[in-house]
Amino acid sequence: MTAILGGGISGLSAAYYALENPKLGSIVLLEASNRLGGWVCTKKSPTGAIFEQGPRTIRPHGDAGKNTLKLVDDLKLGEKVLSIPVNHPSALNRFIYVDKQLHALPISLKPLFKTCPPFKRPLIKAIWSEIHTASIPSDDESVYSFISRRMGTDIADNIISPIICGICAGDAKKISVKFLMPNVFKGEQKYGSIFKGMIKEKLFNKLGPSNMKTDKNIPKDPLEMNLVDRSIKSNWAFWTLDGGLEQLSQALANNLYSRNTHIRLGTECKELIFHSDSVELRSGGETKKYERIISSLPAKDLAKLVKNQHPELANELEAIPTVNVGIVNLEYPQGIVPQEAFGFLVPPKEGLPILGTSFDSCISPQENVVMTVMIGGAWFEEYFGTNPTEEYLLSVALEQLKTILKIEIPPLSQNVSILRNCIPQYIVGHNDRVERIKDYISVHKLPLGLCGSSYEGVGVNDVILSAKKAVSNDN
Ligand SMILES: Cc1cc2nc3c(=O)[nH]c(=O)nc-3n(C[C@H](O)[C@H](O)[C@H](O)COP(=O)(O)OP(=O)(O)OC[C@H]3O[C@@H](n4cnc5c(N)ncnc54)[C@H](O)[C@@H]3O)c2cc1C
Repeated sequence: MTAILGGGISGLSAAYYALENPKLGSIVLLEASNRLGGWVCTKKSPTGAIFEQGPRTIRPHGDAGKNTLKLVDDLKLGEKVLSIPVNHPSALNRFIYVDKQLHALPISLKPLFKTCPPFKRPLIKAIWSEIHTASIPSDDESVYSFISRRMGTDIADNIISPIICGICAGDAKKISVKFLMPNVFKGEQKYGSIFKGMIKEKLFNKLGPSNMKTDKNIPKDPLEMNLVDRSIKSNWAFWTLDGGLEQLSQALANNLYSRNTHIRLGTECKELIFHSDSVELRSGGETKKYERIISSLPAKDLAKLVKNQHPELANELEAIPTVNVGIVNLEYPQGIVPQEAFGFLVPPKEGLPILGTSFDSCISPQENVVMTVMIGGAWFEEYFGTNPTEEYLLSVALEQLKTILKIEIPPLSQNVSILRNCIPQYIVGHNDRVERIKDYISVHKLPLGLCGSSYEGVGVNDVILSAKKAVSNDN
């Protein structure tokens, strides 16, 4: 018997894929709270506006992106998919708020050769200096120090730092370049420059064997196309589900219930004790034995479970930090968003308490205007202390929107939540730490598989693929 710990999207996916691996025996999923889905959470306003409290868009690219689309197909959710092609305004237009003004992030060649605010030089100069900057051998370094060293602090401050806020609500001065931007890091280490590396890798990929699916082997009849085919054919930038992304975790849960998987809600796992032929799991006032454990818990939570028996492992798990994010979803009458766009990000150097705002109803159209302000992240405690009220976060969000977007009217409705420890931070040295964790588990022959956002990536695609790998037939 195998126990899967945690019923977020990765725990649910692990249970789904585990049913295909007979070696794992019967499956039990244990979730501490009284709902499934974890951070994937869709709420509705009184008028029916969709408020995403967690993820709102998913990218279709790469193995992980394709794997999720296949899962969505298998769960028969294809008709609900809302695709956003690369030429859609919400894929093209992203803004940064610098020096009290919104500026479009460069998407055309114009800023390459012309000075466009907030930059004080044409961007070609940053590329030129990057190509001519000597490389330094390095095991890892922060994204901020890497980019400032190679391209200048203006690029690190105004482009890279806000993008890191958008990806993981994190501080680019702490986040690992080797983990979060592996190709950029490899560019310097292997080719001596990011841009030389990009060109050489592109050439190599063109000349080398290609296993990419191209237009030619996609069926012509749209009815025969699966979602991966459709995403390639129509050049999707990202996608979401009409009615909200929580339908993905609900469909997974329904599939598991329909196959009689044992799911126990309200069951907090408290301790794991590994024996030579079994694992004892203490949870919800009882102790049960399992052959194998798959943990989808955040690393910090798993650390508590193994601390007594494996303190060294617990120390490594505990060292993967997390940040708090305040979410303020707002509904307004039509006509107030200044431009069709994904939204805007605020570079940390601007010293504002918000990370950015997504224009949700531009991404997936709704009757009214819906937007979400993301607050705090790596700077949450600095701006708000440990226990701010939701009313205070709402007032901060409205004040910032008044200044930045000139929105003076009160929202028709709102949803405010403080998501505690919701996003892991891949700080410098993350790759080595994850290797040490895996080595420890392997050397001590612990029947413990890991998945979820703490290890291999924070996106929904990453955690679903991590779940599939954790329960694959190789185990
Ligand atoms: C605000 C926000 C916006 C995001 N936006 C995007 C986006 O647009 N696109 C994208 O791809 N990704 C996005 N992400 C990332 C993505 O949503 C998450 O990485 C993913 O949902 C994590 O899923 P998980 O199952 O690994 O973890 P979780 O959702 O954290 O699930 C873990 C589960 O374990 C349970 N648990 C914890 N401790 C115990 C215990 N001791 N015993 C039993 N159960 C326990 C928890 O209750 C929880 O249900 C976003 C995340 C956040 C927070």
